[in-house]
Amino acid sequence: MHIVLLGPPGAGKGSLASLCHSRLGVPHLSTGEIFRREIARKSPLGRRVARYVTNGRLVPDALVVEVMASHLRQQPRRRGFVLDGFPRTRRQAEGLARVLERWGRPLDGAVYLTSPEDLLVRRLSGRRVCPRCGANYHLRTMRPKRLGLCDQCGTPLVTRKDDQPRTIRKRLAIDRKACKPLIDYYRKGKLLYRVNGAGYVGTVFVRMRKLFRRQGWLRRGRA
Ligand code: AMP
Repeated sequence: MHIVLLGPPGAGKGSLASLCHSRLGVPHLSTGEIFRREIARKSPLGRRVARYVTNGRLVPDALVVEVMASHLRQQPRRRGFVLDGFPRTRRQAEGLARVLERWGRPLDGAVYLTSPEDLLVRRLSGRRVCPRCGANYHLRTMRPKRLGLCDQCGTPLVTRKDDQPRTIRKRLAIDRKACKPLIDYYRKGKLLYRVNGAGYVGTVFVRMRKLFRRQGWLRRGRA
């Protein structure tokens, strides 16, 4: 299965991509996670993207495409991929299409998660993340087993810098502007599939899995 997950910040792309990995065995790549990891490591790439990521602004298209192409190249072909947070603009989508065409691995679909804006703000402002392993939690809907600590590695959870209320509103506005041409691009290419992203992540995952089955994107014998 070769898919991209689209939707505004807070639509649940990261959690759903993780479920695709743990339940369906499809590797997932998240641009946001890759960038945060590089920033934490203070690598040359991390230094180049830090000022964009901490302010909630988009990293330039050419750089994002280059980084994702190099990560995709390292993935084993047969297991497919779920991309989360990429592409975010039409130019990134065109860049991705060129890379995949070169490798003979065309996209199966772009899954667009729809959610009302007030739900997105609630999800983002309650989100807590593990700065060590990247696991995501939520103050109300996805609490860790021990208050304030990561279930996977025990590290104290933090609020992402770009999940502060002012930055959330800025990110949603930036996304609204960039999103329309992207959605149009995939709609015209007959690759766009809408999934209702409201509700608990498990419920949304079931809706997505029905779509995957209907489209025949899952290999036989899985999930
Ligand atoms: P995310 O975790 O997907 O919300 O991404 C966090 C931040 O990383 C974004 O606010 C951007 O600064 C940057 N970023 C992630 N993916 C992209 C992308 N596809 N294009 C440009 N910037 C991105």
